[in-house]
Amino acid sequence: MSVPEDHPRAESLKVREKIIEGMHQSIVAEAGLIAHGRGEAFDYIIGEKTPEFAVKQQEAAVALLLLAEKPVISVNGNVAALCPKETVEFSKIVGASIEINLFYRKSEREKAIEEVLKEAGCDEILGIDPIYHTYITELSHLRRIVDKRGIFSADVVFVPLEDGDRTMALRKMGKNVISIDLNPLSRTSLWSNITIVNNLIRAFPEMIETAKKLKEKDNLELKKIVADFNNFNSLKKTLSVLSKGLDNLAKGELKDPTRKLR
Ligand code: ATP
Ligand code: MG
Repeated sequence: MSVPEDHPRAESLKVREKIIEGMHQSIVAEAGLIAHGRGEAFDYIIGEKTPEFAVKQQEAAVALLLLAEKPVISVNGNVAALCPKETVEFSKIVGASIEINLFYRKSEREKAIEEVLKEAGCDEILGIDPIYHTYITELSHLRRIVDKRGIFSADVVFVPLEDGDRTMALRKMGKNVISIDLNPLSRTSLWSNITIVNNLIRAFPEMIETAKKLKEKDNLELKKIVADFNNFNSLKKTLSVLSKGLDNLAKGELKDPTRKLR
């Protein structure tokens, strides 16, 4: 469906269309639509723009990725549908591998996502060749599969959109986990080393610019950025900004759009 340009929520609808289109192309799982809707709800609350707390979270994430010896970006259907180009560009800037890692693993979806990433300029895509598959012992079924060359041997795993179970399993394996999740209360958010509470469509382009800047810094400065970051405190600050924002709206900042009708 084409989105009318004069629709007051045209931008949000265009993003939604990408997810729906992605589902018809087998890139996005049905559950990915539900996850997207959950993200939209939180994005309304953060005002659909990048808040100051997310700028700091993004900076810490980029610093950790630049310091990593073996960083890997884990890509799922929603990420591939929403920002494949930015994901690939970012991976090149921070020197990270890309692994397709799906909660709902199907070879048709893997192929569709592989195609999208290749079109976006990715030369090597991990996670799909069964020769390199190995298992995370903490998890059951298909969710256990990871690539020996990728997530399994990574020191830092960047999971823009992940399920809580897998985030917990990665932490228990000793990995440093960075996530993007609009829900600051999800298990993914709580279990990550660095949680970016922002929409990934804004976070990725901004992190590309941050990475260009931080690449010029020496490792000592990057280490300081990471050492000064505490995820639990950052999430508490995030919740406090969100609740104060809602409180301010309730106390008068919210204007009644129907008042002109009276
Ligand atoms: P968890 O498993 O971590 O406890 P969950 O089961 O509620 O959380 P999942 O479906 O596993 O959630 O993961 C999807 C998460 O991604 C949701 O928290 C949702 O808010 C978030 N999300 C969806 N779309 C976006 C987006 N575009 N940018 C950032 N976050 C998003
Ligand atoms: Mg989940």
